[in-house]
Amino acid sequence: MPEKIQAVKGMNDILPPDSARWEWFEDTVRALMRRYGYLNIRVPIVEPTPLFVRSLGEVTDIVEKEMYSWTDAMNGDELTLRPEGTAGVVRAAAEHSMLYDGGKRLYYMGAMFRHERPQRGRYRQFHQVGVEALGHAGPDVDAEVVLMCRSLWRDLGLSDVRLELNCLGQPAERRAHRDALVAHFEAHRELLDAEAQRRLHSNPLRILDTKNPAMQALVEAAPRLMDYLGDESLRHFQGLCGALDAAGQAYRVNHRLVRGMDYYSLTVFEWITDRLGAQGTVCGGGRYDGLMELVGGKPAPGIGWGLGIERVLDLVQQSGHAPPPPVPDVYAVVPDAAALPVAVQVSEALRAAGVAVLMHAGAGSMKAQFKRADASGARWALVFGGSELAQGVVAVKPLRDDAAPQVTRPLADVAAWAAELLHR
Ligand code: ATP
Ligand code: MG
Repeated sequence: MPEKIQAVKGMNDILPPDSARWEWFEDTVRALMRRYGYLNIRVPIVEPTPLFVRSLGEVTDIVEKEMYSWTDAMNGDELTLRPEGTAGVVRAAAEHSMLYDGGKRLYYMGAMFRHERPQRGRYRQFHQVGVEALGHAGPDVDAEVVLMCRSLWRDLGLSDVRLELNCLGQPAERRAHRDALVAHFEAHRELLDAEAQRRLHSNPLRILDTKNPAMQALVEAAPRLMDYLGDESLRHFQGLCGALDAAGQAYRVNHRLVRGMDYYSLTVFEWITDRLGAQGTVCGGGRYDGLMELVGGKPAPGIGWGLGIERVLDLVQQSGHAPPPPVPDVYAVVPDAAALPVAVQVSEALRAAGVAVLMHAGAGSMKAQFKRADASGARWALVFGGSELAQGVVAVKPLRDDAAPQVTRPLADVAAWAAELLHR
């Protein structure tokens, strides 16, 4: 026997009935986007590698070690499976001059790929929903995108997701802070771990989000970016905080929140939970006013977030209110081959009238068919028995309500009685 082929490690199949939770989640997201006026954008899963190197920055976890990149054997192009959604959306916006007539509010859903060590909440193929509000300088839109997440948690029945915020200021402010930061870390060089040593001059800001317990005290004592911000950045941050206060949204200002990507400016935020163990960040986002220009477009501000669907659905499973998987309204029992043409015809007419009909496939005894009907969860069995068909009717047998009587309904004019089968 040939060896069994298995899925790639860290890349999961999503099977029924779990897939029903995914569909419910996606429907919930689409309804949310409609309420906030965000339009769907779909960009390729493969992009030129330089897009991510340029936009994420060379000294980031993603670009340093997590990307699935290869050289196209046909033409030598350097290509990468997208590790995140923002770069592709901003590339598309620039490529198609999408902002020529004003700002755009966009959202996407789809698979992302990162070569990480698989564990709970961390996979090699995972899925994100993200929004990007392009062409709006904020802070009004900053508050809008943050509050959209709150609405989503509510729609999903989630509590226990909290908000952390920071302001990364503008490049010049970050440079001044960076010098102070490097001086601070250099003065305590012996306390830096290998990764921090390596990042000391390439990306010292990232040292702030180290998870190494031995470095926590050092990092807590580091100079705060907030203290290097000018009036304009502070006003922007206060504008966001004021809007969140007015909306009754609590938050914690986390001075060490810097996020993984280089492209952020001003607002950065994360939604965090304690219910998922080590992988507690369910959603991260921020403002990236320099990104459009970086990928070759006309300069334009932007802000967005990306949310890990697996992590959110893990939370939903623990504490949310996902509806049960859908069941058919009707199971069609077909006692013999002679009944098949009528059964097909009636089933099609019912489906056209909006009734969910699961038709028995593959013949079999009545007993076996009723067993299937029962297992399907359907409320009714339609039984296309020979004597009923001879009288021009079909038997409608309730499967979930023992007290309800079995009735017959005419084969003609199905639409007239289809409505009574609908599960409401
Ligand atoms: P982490 O610190 O957990 O690695 P990140 O900063 O790399 O997260 P982002 O790039 O901001 O994550 O992606 C946004 C969201 O996507 C995360 O908050 C998380 O919910 C989800 N996510 C990121 N990487 C993975 C992964 N490998 N598997 C599953 N979900 C992920
Ligand atoms: Mg990561």
